[in-house]
Amino acid sequence: MKWTSEAEGAVSKVPFFIRKRVKKRVEEEAERQDSSLVTLVHVKTCQQRFLQNMDAEVKGFQVEACFGPTGCPNAVAVSPDLIAKLEKKLESRNLRDFLKGKVRGPLKLHHEFRVSLSTCPNACSRPQIADFGIIGALRPAVGNDPCTGCGACAEACAEQALTLPDGQGGPAIDFDRCLACGQCLQVCPTGTLVEGEKGYRVQVGGKLGRHPQLGRELPGIHSEEGLLAVLDRTLDHYQKYNEKGERLGEVLKQHPLV
Ligand code: SF4
Ligand code: SF4
Ligand code: SF4
Repeated sequence: MKWTSEAEGAVSKVPFFIRKRVKKRVEEEAERQDSSLVTLVHVKTCQQRFLQNMDAEVKGFQVEACFGPTGCPNAVAVSPDLIAKLEKKLESRNLRDFLKGKVRGPLKLHHEFRVSLSTCPNACSRPQIADFGIIGALRPAVGNDPCTGCGACAEACAEQALTLPDGQGGPAIDFDRCLACGQCLQVCPTGTLVEGEKGYRVQVGGKLGRHPQLGRELPGIHSEEGLLAVLDRTLDHYQKYNEKGERLGEVLKQHPLV
């Protein structure tokens, strides 16, 4: 659907974590009014309705993703149906009713449990400030094909995690520095660097608001199955210790996830 520049400008001011949802509502509003062009009037009508009826808009959780799953060349871990699986798991928790039972007063969007998936460490969808942040990860390993010592891998690594000792044995990898972005693998012309650990890193408890904090990284790189198990464990913890609808980051201050 086409948008006027004024309508686009108005929606770009909506906080990023609800922008997608608001855009969908605005397009529905335009359709209701038999218009194929979204204008400022549709945005304003929706804005009014949204603010008057925010409680009904709260579904208890949000899942957002960077555009890696739709083709970003930097994406290193993409499972085509991961988002659907995450949503299914969150839906099964009935988080809207759970929050209704905890929050005093009407539910607001900032009460929702937020999951954010970025399919590489550039983290465009800001997983560091989500309750459950997921970052695609791919570590290199040195395989059997001989290294020519061309240095392309070390040059491509923004973290200076690769050094080339004398000889043809391939680079030394400092995994304390490596962010598992997979860039070195893309540039190695000989196939000396091969895929090592691949999957997802997880950060928990990030949030903005009055007391912002970045999520804390849980150890390891998880397979898709492992990731879903960590989400389950995190939700168990969140629902067990939540007192009044506070975000996971607040829960973890009192009850760390071990
Ligand atoms: S986080 Fe990485 S994969 Fe996702 S859109 Fe950004 S650069 Fe691309
Ligand atoms: S995966 Fe990324 S951070 Fe790790 S060594 Fe390769 S280029 Fe460097
Ligand atoms: S591992 Fe590959 S990119 Fe790195 S120096 Fe050897 S041949 Fe070049």
